Amino acid sequence: MFKGILMEGSRGDQQVSLKSIDEAWLPEGDVTVDVAYSTLNYKDALAITGTAPIAKSYPMVPGIDLAGVVTESSNPEFKAGDEVVLNGWGVGEKHWGGLAQKARLSGDWLIPLPESFTARQAMAIGTAGYTAMLCVLALEKHGVTPDSGDILVTGATGGVGSVAVAILAKLGYSVTAVTGKPEEESYLRSLGAKQILDRAELSGPGKPLTRETWAGAIDVAGGQVLANVCAGMKYRGVVAACGLAAGMDFPATVAPFILRSVTLCGVDSVMAPKKDRLEAWERLAQDLSPELLDSMITEVPLDEAIEAAGQFMDGTIRGRIVIPVAE
Ligand code: NDP
Repeated sequence: MFKGILMEGSRGDQQVSLKSIDEAWLPEGDVTVDVAYSTLNYKDALAITGTAPIAKSYPMVPGIDLAGVVTESSNPEFKAGDEVVLNGWGVGEKHWGGLAQKARLSGDWLIPLPESFTARQAMAIGTAGYTAMLCVLALEKHGVTPDSGDILVTGATGGVGSVAVAILAKLGYSVTAVTGKPEEESYLRSLGAKQILDRAELSGPGKPLTRETWAGAIDVAGGQVLANVCAGMKYRGVVAACGLAAGMDFPATVAPFILRSVTLCGVDSVMAPKKDRLEAWERLAQDLSPELLDSMITEVPLDEAIEAAGQFMDGTIRGRIVIPVAE
């Protein structure tokens, strides 16, 4: 038996609790892992609170990320004792996830724990941090450099935002952090933000084009915020869009794209191919300061994870939540 969070019932009528789970119930897979650490991402919070239909079947163990040690493997790439990390691939949605002390899954979804990180640090990064790196890589691949001009990061105190600010600042970019939490200004400046912008300035209906301000942007908000970000990009600016914290809609015009050659670049972490994941993790090892990563962490025990998920929905979380699952 092992401890884990279990979502039971059905869509719209789910019950979520910490349970003792029989190992015989683990799903199919060629690798079994003793999970050391997991984390809470926005998507896990949507799943646990039932705010969005993330779980595709029941019962389901949530948790789109995990880090741990292989105990059994028939996959040629992994053997017992290997330290591994998993991000996404539908785990915690279609396949039992990381918020339990054991997981059985496909070895094709795993990557080795990068040498520079402990399992705890890998989960402090988690899907949020790895997505932040994918966004930075998207800006770079579209030609944005520190000389191009200011970079905007929305949802800056959140998981993706915090890691994005820290990476960009370390790379020498001038970062404007957008936040709805003015009281977190000193936190954002400690991560390296040069300017702080009140989220309210981007939340209301705006013009199709505004003053050319940003050379690049990483947006976790979507909705009206993303429309306003696009409207304020410089000529040939690049926006990496990965989230929907403000909404799924996109009430914009084509003006930024056809008059300023703005590029809107979508970023998905869940199904990203292995080579992109390995590149992102390699760059995280180079470009994310471990001290700043530490400053983003709040550790929450597994038996308080359900309660913590609720805090995501009211936007009060700062940085990254790490769950020491094995304890
Ligand atoms: P967090 O909850 O940690 O951060 C989200 C932040 O967005 C909040 O802290 C807040 O920051 C800001 N925010 C909250 N409400 C609003 C709003 N109404 N308008 C604008 N900003 C708002 O979540 P994550 O950082 O983990 O994820 C952010 C988004 O990215 C989510 O939508 C998530 O689903 C998505 N995501 C997508 C991935 C992908 O593969 N495409 C992978 C990972 C995440 P502040 O108070 O500082 O403004």
